[in-house]
Amino acid sequence: MSTRQSLAQPADHDDQADTAEPAKPSRPGRTAYRRGAANPNGSTNALRADVLSALGVLKVATADQLQRLLRPGAASNTAIRQALRDLALHSLVASDGNTKARHKTWRLEGTAGLEAAAHVLGVPRSDMGSTARGAGRSGAQHAMAVNETVLAFILGGTAPDAPGGVGTITDWSTEVEFVLPGGRRKVRPDAVWQAPEIGVPVLMVEVDRSTMAPERVAAKFAAYRELFRVKVRDNDPARSDEAAADRTVHWWRRAYPGHTRPGYPPVALVVTDAGPVALANRQQKVRDLARDAWGGSWWTMRSDNAGGDGWREYDDAVPVIATTLELLAEHGPMGPVWWRYGRDEVRYSLLEALESPDTRAAYDERQKAREKKAEEEHQELMKTLACADCGNVPYWESTQEYGPKGRQTWTRRPGGLCWSCHEKEQQRREQEREAQAQAQLEAAREANAKLRPCWTCRGSIGGKAGSSLELKEKAGPDRLECPHCESDREDQELGPLVLPAPTRRELLAARVSAPADPWWKDRVRHAELYPVKNRAA
Ligand SMILES: [Zn+2]
Ligand SMILES: [Zn+2]
Repeated sequence: MSTRQSLAQPADHDDQADTAEPAKPSRPGRTAYRRGAANPNGSTNALRADVLSALGVLKVATADQLQRLLRPGAASNTAIRQALRDLALHSLVASDGNTKARHKTWRLEGTAGLEAAAHVLGVPRSDMGSTARGAGRSGAQHAMAVNETVLAFILGGTAPDAPGGVGTITDWSTEVEFVLPGGRRKVRPDAVWQAPEIGVPVLMVEVDRSTMAPERVAAKFAAYRELFRVKVRDNDPARSDEAAADRTVHWWRRAYPGHTRPGYPPVALVVTDAGPVALANRQQKVRDLARDAWGGSWWTMRSDNAGGDGWREYDDAVPVIATTLELLAEHGPMGPVWWRYGRDEVRYSLLEALESPDTRAAYDERQKAREKKAEEEHQELMKTLACADCGNVPYWESTQEYGPKGRQTWTRRPGGLCWSCHEKEQQRREQEREAQAQAQLEAAREANAKLRPCWTCRGSIGGKAGSSLELKEKAGPDRLECPHCESDREDQELGPLVLPAPTRRELLAARVSAPADPWWKDRVRHAELYPVKNRAA
């Protein structure tokens, strides 16, 4: 895998240019140019160095692009054209042709051009790639689109309120080539951007001019995933206690350190060269076709009762953000231009778009909120079940309790009682009933004690106090026996009690004065009911 090492910090171009201008003329491997005669077009060292570095990165560019990139405040590209002509005189740059819009395309020329650019950029010659010789002959349309993408990143949007750009040309590399395992297939991003200063260690950029079938564009993301899966030996001393076979790390973590987001390094898809509707469809189509590469895996936790809610794990996913070159140029990368695959088709700024959707953390937050809400609702419901007596709020709605009579069903209802208050209430009522019965019994006993006694046993007509047969109310006026004697009579089948009939003498005495015998009336009645001839005795 050949990847260009991270480029040097933005070079102080004037210094670079000065060192590139030795006193003596041409030394092997070095390029000399001198003011005046050496550079008849009057370009400055600084600008020539900037042009070399820009061409070193972009490979092919127009004067207009170089002007916007290097001297954005300049009224025209005259100075750039002067620098290009001076560099061409020294055979460091050359032009092969024109763009469709008839702008001359410029590129580095030969080994000398590559070396000069490598020197200015402060990178090894071996990392310089090609001169893109001949690219201009066909109009270099793809290179121009890549350049406009890079320019939009660096310069920011052209719209009046658009956010500014990020970084410089030295944060970019083109012609980077990654070899996939097996060595036969390669991944070639159109551009590689490194912006660790804003938390983007690396962003692979694919510029799509709508010339390729969406299936082929989508296949690139699968290839990126394959590329990002590759692990290499990790020599981190902190892991020296682990088994050698376990000591591996994804190569890109080493090549582009500082990666903090879930998943693999992100890839930006910039589409262009079609109408807005076609470009929108294209982004959607690629989204659908490449879902396997960017989608991650969906997880749910059944025990959470989250109603189907879940989260995505991105361990093996390539975050993809997409935009059109037109949107990007207008609003810049920090403007709301990026659609993050996997999110609603809302446009986000770069850093927002790089945040993964449906993460576990977001799910956890939603789940916490759900649980809190459920708990609050539960609490509200439980409050309605607060015990009317003691105010106790149940933790759970109780439907069953094990009472003294074994298993019982007990449902707490609004305005009702808790189980223990319910039990107490039952007890209280029971005691009340008992006390009432006792009072009634005592009143009956007292009343019965004043009545004539039992004919048979001469005890209280109410029966023996405290016995189970004792009358619980006042005895009727016709009652002759206490309940015990009555019961005995029944048991012994003695037949009805028949009082002794009044004697002749008693009858005579009754004519004179009312007899004192409390049973007199009953004896008279019995005498009539049971005439003497029927009497057993
Ligand atoms: Zn209670
Ligand atoms: Zn009796």
